[in-house]
Order: sequence, then structure tokens, then C-alpha cells
Amino acid sequence: MRSTADSGVGISQRLTKVASHQSPMAGPIIVAAGALAIVSCLAVRDPSAPGFYPTCVFKALTGWDCPGCGSLRALHDLTHGDLRDGLDHNVLVVLAVPFLIWSWFSWAKRSWGNPGQARVGKPAPAGVIYALLGVVVAFWILRNIAGVPFLGSGIG
Ligand SMILES: [Zn+2]
Repeated sequence: MRSTADSGVGISQRLTKVASHQSPMAGPIIVAAGALAIVSCLAVRDPSAPGFYPTCVFKALTGWDCPGCGSLRALHDLTHGDLRDGLDHNVLVVLAVPFLIWSWFSWAKRSWGNPGQARVGKPAPAGVIYALLGVVVAFWILRNIAGVPFLGSGIG
């Protein structure tokens, strides 16, 4: 009989084999399945209810919001069509969702159309990455300043 650890290695090896050798669409399909599982869980289990999801360590230690605070509640709100509450819980996550969906479709299109070629897109220019990092840091600071509306995580 195989142990639990052996089963984990077997699954990992099988996923790696599928993703790298057998199908150019394996990567996008695996990511889509994982995202669908997470979003389904968030749709069913309300992150506002205590006890199921972990608490943010930064929020618990400092009482301040990190850039990710409110993300689970924002995604839960989006699964229920509540854009206003989603924006209130974490505006950055809500704004990132269309970009992530577009990125996934772009990746899937590259994978579908070019099975023998590299399926990874070009990396973003360094300036874009630094600008996004600046936006996240500015969001982190602004959402913890009293009197700045609509940027906090909606709790505490
Ligand atoms: Zn947090």
C-alpha cells in the first residue's frame, strides 16, 4: 500500500508530465480548473463568516490593512454580482480580475495555436513591473490613512 506522501509525488509527477509533454493546453486547463475550484469555494463559503478562512497575519499583528486584505471578500462579492461591495473590500483585486482573465485567454490562445513553440509570453518591461509595484505600495499606504474613502478592506 502506498503512503500519502507517495501519492502526492505521483500526482505531482503526473501533472508535470501532462503539462510539459502531452498537451499544449494542459497548463491553461490546470490553471483554469484551480481558479474555478477556488472561486467556487469563495462563492459557497462567505469569507466574512469567521472560522473557515485564515486571518491576515499583517492585519492581526498591526490592525492595518495589507494590499491583499479584503481580496477573498471582494471575490466572493463578484461571484454574487455585487460589484460595489467588491470594490469596497479590495479595489485592486477587482480591477485585476479582467486583466487576469485576458491574460489567461491570451495564454490559452498561444498554447492552442502553437503546440510546438514556446507558450510563455514575453515578460512585461521593467518599467511596467515597477509601476505596478508602486501602485500596490501606494494603495497599501493610502488604504490605511484615516479619511481616505473606499480604499480600506471594509472591516475594523
Ligand atoms: Zn491583509
